[in-house]
Amino acid sequence: MTSVIPAAWMPRVPMKRIIGHWTAGNHTASDTDKRAYYVLIEGIGKIIRGVPSIDLNSGSIKNGYAAHTLNCNTDSIGLSMCCMAGAIESPFSAGRAPLTAVQWSAFVRAVAEHARFYQIPVTPQTILFHAEVQANLCIAQRAKWDVIRLPFEPSVVGAKEAGDKLRREVAALLAGNAPTAPQEPVPAGGIGRITAPVLNTRNGPNGDVTGSLKAGTLVEVNGLDGVWLNVTTPAGFSVWCIAITSPWSTAHLRSNRRSPARTAPSSIASIAIWTNSKHLEPDNVDHRF
Ligand SMILES: [Zn+2]
Repeated sequence: MTSVIPAAWMPRVPMKRIIGHWTAGNHTASDTDKRAYYVLIEGIGKIIRGVPSIDLNSGSIKNGYAAHTLNCNTDSIGLSMCCMAGAIESPFSAGRAPLTAVQWSAFVRAVAEHARFYQIPVTPQTILFHAEVQANLCIAQRAKWDVIRLPFEPSVVGAKEAGDKLRREVAALLAGNAPTAPQEPVPAGGIGRITAPVLNTRNGPNGDVTGSLKAGTLVEVNGLDGVWLNVTTPAGFSVWCIAITSPWSTAHLRSNRRSPARTAPSSIASIAIWTNSKHLEPDNVDHRF
């Protein structure tokens, strides 16, 4: 298992459980987020260290501890995914910063590393979401819904279902059974942010227009066919959009005869793409799509 948590972040102190959260904020970690949690996972899967050190929550809570779960902070490691600002529980709406698939993967990996280091067993009482605390640990929480939906996997509904998925994936990682992460050149599993003011969505590469995405929308990148990107929209639809430009796409742009080289590949962009923490896209954008 590749390490995503630096050893320096994990002091050797006894810890009993890991509690997962989402911040109900944006895709980046705010100062408030950093004070409440020991580790934060941003929308593009980047892992950020919070302000409190783990040892402030060990044994008994000490000044400056991470206050992430009501009456359940002692010996608890609080990790949070930066997302779900403006989300509504019912009828469910993921809001303007939906939890992303890459963010979830990075979170699962971070949880697994802490579980291994602190020798925390994978059980519903020891690795769980905030939304499960009341049911699994019998510690009353103020009406909080927290992680009970996964926008990228709509079939997951409920705290136990989300927690079970987390525990299954953590156990698989610890057992060395995790699927290998997708690699470049196609940044499958990456996150794209629409940079064109409006970008048409199509039902296939060069297919019929089915709708459009606005600038700033985050999509999950599934694959590339020529200059066409297959992405999953926040609502969960699989669509095609014209892309791009970044080092990995130059060859595709050059070899596509339907797309005359009207300008250098590096000067056009409709989607900015990240793979994990690495931003692959140049900043200059042509808005003609
Ligand atoms: Zn929480």
